Amino acid sequence: MAHSLIKCDLGNGERASFWYDAWCHLGPLINLTGNDGPVRFGISSQLSVADACEGNIWHLPSPRSDQERELHSFLDMFFSIRPDAGIDCYKERSNIKEWSSLIWFKGATPKHAFIMWVAYLHRLPTRDRLHAWGISTPTSCCICSASEESHVHLFLRYPFSKQVWSRVQSHLRLRPLAFHTWPSLLAWTKIKSDLAPPIIRKLACQAVVYHLWKLRNTILHNQVLFSPTAAYQEIVTEIRNTIDARKS
Ligand SMILES: [Zn+2]
Repeated sequence: MAHSLIKCDLGNGERASFWYDAWCHLGPLINLTGNDGPVRFGISSQLSVADACEGNIWHLPSPRSDQERELHSFLDMFFSIRPDAGIDCYKERSNIKEWSSLIWFKGATPKHAFIMWVAYLHRLPTRDRLHAWGISTPTSCCICSASEESHVHLFLRYPFSKQVWSRVQSHLRLRPLAFHTWPSLLAWTKIKSDLAPPIIRKLACQAVVYHLWKLRNTILHNQVLFSPTAAYQEIVTEIRNTIDARKS
C-alpha cells in the first residue's frame, strides 16, 4: 500500500527501479505492461532507470510490438536522464486524480489503458504539440485537414470520431451523446445503467481512443483510409474478445 503512495523524483536514475517505481507520471511501468512486461520487452525486472540508459539516451532492446514502439517513443519524447543530477528522491504522491479510475481498473486492456492515459494528459505527439516543440510540420489534422490536429479534435470533435462514438453508444443501446471535453467523457463512463455498466463504458472508451490513434497513425504513415464503420467493427470485436476472456 505504501508503495502506491510514493513517487520518485528522478535524479541520476541510479536508485529508481525502471519497472516498479513511479518515476514518471505514467506511474510504475509494470502497471502498464502487466507482470510479464520485463520478459516481453526484454528488459530485466532488476534494472534501474540509469541501467536502461547510456549517457543521457535510452538504451533498450529494439521494439517488436506496437506497445513496445509506443513505450519507446514515449520514453524518447518525454524523459531524459541527466547522469550529473543528484540522487533520486522518493516523495509522497499527490492525491489520486479523479480520472485515474477511467484509466486503471481491473479488466482494462493494458495497451488501451496506456494510450488512454497519455491521450487524457494530452501527451501524444499530435501535430499541434509537435509544432509547439518547434518541429517543422503542418498543424492541420492529418485526416481531415480542416482543423488543427489537437487531442480534443482527433478523439472527440472530429466528425469521424463522433460517428465512431455514436455507433459504439448505439451498440450499447444508449442515447448517443457527443463529448466535447474529456471531463464530459469521464462523467459519461460513471453513469450507472443496467444496459452498460461503468466497466463496459470504460472498456469502450479506451478501445475507441486506442483505435482512433492507431487509425490516425495508419493514415499518416500508409495513406490508407478507413470508414467509421470499419473502425467501429474492429472496436466491437476487440471489446467482445476482452469480455469473453474475462467472463469469470
Ligand atoms: Zn481532422
